[in-house]
Amino acid sequence: MDHSHEVLARAGHRSGAARNAVIDLLGRQECCLSAQEIYDLLRAEGERTVGLASVYRAVDLLAGLELLQRVDLGDDVARYEPTEPTGAHHHHLVCLDCGRVRPFEDARLERALAEVAEAQRYAMEGHDVVLRGRCPVCQAA
Ligand SMILES: [Zn+2]
Ligand SMILES: [Zn+2]
Repeated sequence: MDHSHEVLARAGHRSGAARNAVIDLLGRQECCLSAQEIYDLLRAEGERTVGLASVYRAVDLLAGLELLQRVDLGDDVARYEPTEPTGAHHHHLVCLDCGRVRPFEDARLERALAEVAEAQRYAMEGHDVVLRGRCPVCQAA
């Protein structure tokens, strides 16, 4: 969060209520949210001054400054989560029945991807991994 405010200040952006609310909310999530989900959660927390349009503007601005990254799960909904300055990241499991998105991390997967890049003599800057299927709850139903 401190990092976000620093980058915004350096880019000449004065703090705005919507941006602060979005940064604060996403900083408390374990995974990505769409603009609509961000808006709904802010409302549920009692935030009444931030409109949906300003949430859209805020995520656009924050993604442009690379404070948020856009997560594409293949369903045409843009989701956002904070970019870690350390490069730490996770990947996603998507349930095709309930639509729930879960994060996961796997050191072996990261090593395997690095080895693939190396074998292809590719200087990898990033990667996306999405697993689609049915979550344990939906399998049990
Ligand atoms: Zn995520
Ligand atoms: Zn990874």
